[in-house]
Amino acid sequence: MSGRRFLSIGECMVELSQAGDGLLRKGFAGDTFNTAWYARACLGPDWSVDYLTALGDDALSEEMAAFIARAGIGTSLIRHIKGKTPGLYMINLKNGERSFSYWRDSSAARSLAADPDHLREAVESADVIYFSGITLAILPQEDAATLLAEIRRAKAVGKLVVFDPNIRPRLWSSYDVMHATISEGARSSVLVMPSFDDEAAHFGDDSIEATIHRYLALGAINIVVKNGADGVRLNFAGDETFVPAEKVETVVDTTSAGDSFNGAFLASYLESGDATAAARFAAGVAARVVSEHGALVAKEKLGLNGG
Ligand code: ADP
Repeated sequence: MSGRRFLSIGECMVELSQAGDGLLRKGFAGDTFNTAWYARACLGPDWSVDYLTALGDDALSEEMAAFIARAGIGTSLIRHIKGKTPGLYMINLKNGERSFSYWRDSSAARSLAADPDHLREAVESADVIYFSGITLAILPQEDAATLLAEIRRAKAVGKLVVFDPNIRPRLWSSYDVMHATISEGARSSVLVMPSFDDEAAHFGDDSIEATIHRYLALGAINIVVKNGADGVRLNFAGDETFVPAEKVETVVDTTSAGDSFNGAFLASYLESGDATAAARFAAGVAARVVSEHGALVAKEKLGLNGG
């Protein structure tokens, strides 16, 4: 494939959701994969989208790779680790409230950055690199450092490096490691796309402005702060704008609202260079995603015109 290349790096997991009568439905999802899915759905054919992760050599790993490929996402950068299996999570439902159980401590994805040469080649082959705080959280500390070094090289040569802090305290060994590593992720990136509720809860920001200024002070250049139904605030090269969320009649499932926003935003921004227009487009896509069940809503249901 020619054209430009979007690379997302992280962990896709097996998802088990309740299908009634004690039955479970199997799916595949994970923050950086969800964003790749929506970027693929929204980008034109001159872009390729690749997913870099590590899988095992079992049947489930094979099934996941086939699922990723069927979504039109490149799988050639996926590492396959002998004897390993993918991470897994289950969505529990109790009185309409969802909660999550995870089995990911020894998942294959933890080895995604264990081969520095492979990582370097992958990052060098891409024009846009996307990763998250979850990507960093699942890696052994020395592999996180390897990944961040590659990310910094990409930023230094002018590539668009995009980071969603996606703060998940349970994935980190300590608050200090989480704070330091996520800050380093942001410092190494061009565009940071945090969710305000996470930043307020875990990093103590008392306003969206505080989030924007903290990430700018670290060295990120552009910031998009998502704030659920209250819209997004953008700071692009110092210019600040606000874009409201779209009105949604019935919110069905907010899973991957932020991931879909990121994917749609990046697709539109990469095509047009207009961040405010991209945020409006992404608000429309995210509104449709929260109106449907599941993390991955089919392209046909996203209300995209044409391509
Ligand atoms: P995250 O999932 O990362 O916490 P947010 O909750 O901020 O992200 O949601 C991301 C985007 O999804 C918002 O900017 C908005 O466009 C859309 N969105 C989320 N919740 C709603 C809602 N209740 N109504 C309309 N749009 C929503």
